[in-house]
Amino acid sequence: MELYCESLTSYRRLPTREVNVGDLLLGNFHPVRVQTMTTTDTMDTMGTVEQSIRCIEAGAELVRITAPSKTEAENLANIKAELRRRGYTTPLVADIHFTPNAAEIAARIVEKVRVNPGNYVDKKKFEFINYTDLDYTEEIDRIRDRFTPLVQICKQYGTAMRIGTNHGSLSDRIMSRYGDTAMGMVESAMEFLRIARGESYHNIVLSMKSSNPQVMVQAYRLLIQQMQQEFNECYPLHLGVTEAGDGEDGRVKSAAGIGTLLEDGIGDTIRVSLTEDPELEIPVCRDLVKRYTQREQHTAIPPVAVPLPYSPFNYSRRQSFEVGNIGGKQVPVVIADYSKLEAITPESLKGIGYAYSAATDKWNIGDAAADYIFTGNKIIDFALPGTLKVLVYPATWQQVLLEENGANEPDKYLPIYQDSGYAAATAKSASMNFVMVDCFNDELAVNDFTYLDLLANDPTVVLCLSSNNPHAMPALRRMFIELMNRRILNPVVLLCDSNWQTADEHLVHYASECGALLLDGFGDGICLGMTAAAGNRTEMHASGRTYADNQTKEHFVNNTAFTILQATRTRISKTEYISCPSCGRTLFDLQETTAKIRAVTNHLKGVKIAIMGCIVNGPGEMADADFGYVGSGVGKVTLYRGKEVVKRNVDSDIAVAELIVLLKESNAWVEQAGVVSCEM
Ligand code: SF4
Repeated sequence: MELYCESLTSYRRLPTREVNVGDLLLGNFHPVRVQTMTTTDTMDTMGTVEQSIRCIEAGAELVRITAPSKTEAENLANIKAELRRRGYTTPLVADIHFTPNAAEIAARIVEKVRVNPGNYVDKKKFEFINYTDLDYTEEIDRIRDRFTPLVQICKQYGTAMRIGTNHGSLSDRIMSRYGDTAMGMVESAMEFLRIARGESYHNIVLSMKSSNPQVMVQAYRLLIQQMQQEFNECYPLHLGVTEAGDGEDGRVKSAAGIGTLLEDGIGDTIRVSLTEDPELEIPVCRDLVKRYTQREQHTAIPPVAVPLPYSPFNYSRRQSFEVGNIGGKQVPVVIADYSKLEAITPESLKGIGYAYSAATDKWNIGDAAADYIFTGNKIIDFALPGTLKVLVYPATWQQVLLEENGANEPDKYLPIYQDSGYAAATAKSASMNFVMVDCFNDELAVNDFTYLDLLANDPTVVLCLSSNNPHAMPALRRMFIELMNRRILNPVVLLCDSNWQTADEHLVHYASECGALLLDGFGDGICLGMTAAAGNRTEMHASGRTYADNQTKEHFVNNTAFTILQATRTRISKTEYISCPSCGRTLFDLQETTAKIRAVTNHLKGVKIAIMGCIVNGPGEMADADFGYVGSGVGKVTLYRGKEVVKRNVDSDIAVAELIVLLKESNAWVEQAGVVSCEM
């Protein structure tokens, strides 16, 4: 094993124990299984059966159903019987929080139970208690007493179990010793895993979920390392990002977290948690999983030597110097690829955040406005808005300079070279030169870094890394390692082209490839593109949902770039919503409420708002949200500032208005000015 996976450069699945969930096998190199969770009331037998069938027909290989109390746990028998009567044999999973007695009933009925070690025995009071070693051991003994009966029932009935740690629901004991950390999440699961192993029970899957993909990725890596060290083997892993939200945000956040791990061969089953109907999660799961069907056949990438020049367990941005507004401590830039557009007009810049008003002759610049456009050989024949700059091929750049035509604003044009072409070029910009480097596409050239040495630490050079290698993300990561080992500090832009067809496929591709690098601190900018074979805008309909009719490909790609930066927390350009996917505990229509809250708060750049369906799990799970809107009873909502209850049991009719009042009282509200203007 290489730190936390089989190889950082060669695609190989992580070996894990085989687990059976009914007749379904997972782990031990079986295909990555896809799953979801129902949102109906578990006591609504027919509603839950109908929704489970929709999920199964969409491709779910496991269906999870909440069992908040003994009554719902018992009703799982009716749901299972009706599904079997209708010919559906898909294994069912009971989701348990706080109620060991419900788990013990469910484990006799369904094929798998999920327990959350943060709240199976412990009650979370958000208290910091200073545990002595003796207190700590006594608590573990208490967990053993309460958890062992469930383990024995699972053994007796052949039921599988997921020990599912959530970042937001770590016990006070874990928090007091490990803090709110990825290592705390690992230890939380390990306490339960050790007890289960002590009973010789191994039909176990583990998960380490967080709404922050960075924490989630680090926790899974640490868990693998810990299992390997302690047991010399790994249990199968269920991957997911909790409370990812809906639409593009939810897909990108999920793909950044899940995709990062799948790229390294980690993961045996996945769930994409969206605040949408559960059957809509399945196509996204499939888009994630299908990327690896032929991956082993990729072009070889040279192996890495350990120790690595960075830590995959602690985020630290790669050191680089500044070239203009790129690199150093500056937020990553976004470069829009306009090279394939036939004509570039003021109207065509609207999709990347620059809206021109002919009436006022002014540009309105949005928060998600691209920093550069790449036009290939095209020269723009109108005055550019704001600080937008244009990247062109060297011959075109020289043409702009020679024309000395004020209308063309030559200062705003910068050349982009192909790797070795830069060293040979006779004309170079004195301020910024972009140099494209293909990473490990060709096995013959893998160890030839002469071209890198020729431009290393040139203070005008921004490197633009891309790869046609099917294992592209690890190819780029390998190049970052090479740069670090050679102490090359030039800033780097990630170039990522998609060859896929649907909008969701593109989102998953961009978020997996760029997200994985950004989460490890690699990248000072991104430029997303589509190959000629990729879907055009008329095909940009994802399974089950469509994008706004007036959204151009450029708008879609630009929005995706900013969403990836937001999901990886490297550049904040909008409000962040942490909304649970809802389940049988949910006390209001989450999709509708999320849409309502989004409509009135989506201009609050950088504010994190959690929208959670229930008071039982919501406050714990909303993790690091600034504000929380949590269902606390039928027609009642409790509002939080951080973890503090501010308004309890507000009538749901006025809860959104009260949330705005709370935002205002907390100085987190700004009026919707929306745009910055500049003259054309
Ligand atoms: S927070 Fe949402 S998904 Fe989680 S248990 Fe409560 S209602 Fe269900």
